[in-house]
Amino acid sequence: MKEVFDIDDLADRVRLDLGAAHPARLAVIGRPVAHSLSPQMHQAALDAHGIDARYIRIDIAPAAVGEALRRMRDLGFTGCNVTVPHKIEALETCDSSEPVARLLGAVNTIAFTNDGIHGSNTDAPGFLKAFEEAFGRSPAGLAMLIAGAGGGAGRTLAAACAMAGASQLVLVNRTVSKANAVAEQLRSATHSPPETLVLSPDDPSLCAIARDCDAIVNATSLGLSADEPPSLPAAAFRTGQMVFDAVYRNGPTSLVRLSESLGCKSVDGRLMLLHQGALAFQRWFPGTEPLESMRRALQSTAGGS
Ligand code: NAP
Repeated sequence: MKEVFDIDDLADRVRLDLGAAHPARLAVIGRPVAHSLSPQMHQAALDAHGIDARYIRIDIAPAAVGEALRRMRDLGFTGCNVTVPHKIEALETCDSSEPVARLLGAVNTIAFTNDGIHGSNTDAPGFLKAFEEAFGRSPAGLAMLIAGAGGGAGRTLAAACAMAGASQLVLVNRTVSKANAVAEQLRSATHSPPETLVLSPDDPSLCAIARDCDAIVNATSLGLSADEPPSLPAAAFRTGQMVFDAVYRNGPTSLVRLSESLGCKSVDGRLMLLHQGALAFQRWFPGTEPLESMRRALQSTAGGS
């Protein structure tokens, strides 16, 4: 059985399901996609619920997302997850979408319904559930620093914090203009936007401002490999701070290692992966409880990102 499918495999069912025990009904599409842990998580939940379906990885080129989604719809797929770099292109292909997906400009979950291709975004609520599980509270009333706030994940997490009622947002991004654009969008789209400050990672006041924040969120792509430095220096952390790294790898990320050594309470991105995945599963199969089977599958899987 292939580890990674491509758009040509979406030509017909015979080709797609050759030798498989269950028909492919769900997938993650992205590029690259070979490392995704979504198949392990979702297959465990499908099996636990006795659903006759297989979850596969499909490598799709940019600009081919619309064609891929239409082929999946025509082949009778239930839905798919969308990962980097297709979240914006997928939104453009949808016949309908959740308001939060339109606010974020990105979808990570597609459902094929009688009314067409429907897009939603479970990254934002998945982050909030993960934050709550990790720290026993929501970002409401907290001063939150988001490193990498101009990237796809960063703007999603910034919007999630704003919608959850964070009192202050410090948006840090290497390309400062991108964080400025996010701040502007939050100001115009959020009902009562938090006080928002945009900083360059080189700003001399960054560490003092970071130490004053209640929680630090990393949404840069730094930390994926063991030798990459954390996105913020040691001087940005203080004992008792909450640290949420959206990145995950096989073993602790450099940010989790550093911040824990400085007395912070820290988690990596697996918890967000888990919760966004469980919420996506419930979009496809309302009334199911996939969280614990997905959690066990994730715990028994080494590596991935
Ligand atoms: P993206 O859109 O490519 O954004 C990457 C971000 O990282 C940008 O803010 C970028 O800054 C910054 N960056 C990259 N290299 C940097 C460097 N050397 N120094 C400082 N900043 C740097 O990627 P994404 O989709 O947002 O994903 C970001 C990370 O979040 C990835 O590791 C991804 O795996 C993780 N993620 C996790 C989950 C989960 O469920 N746990 C979900 C989504 C994403 P510029 O804007 O200046 O380029």
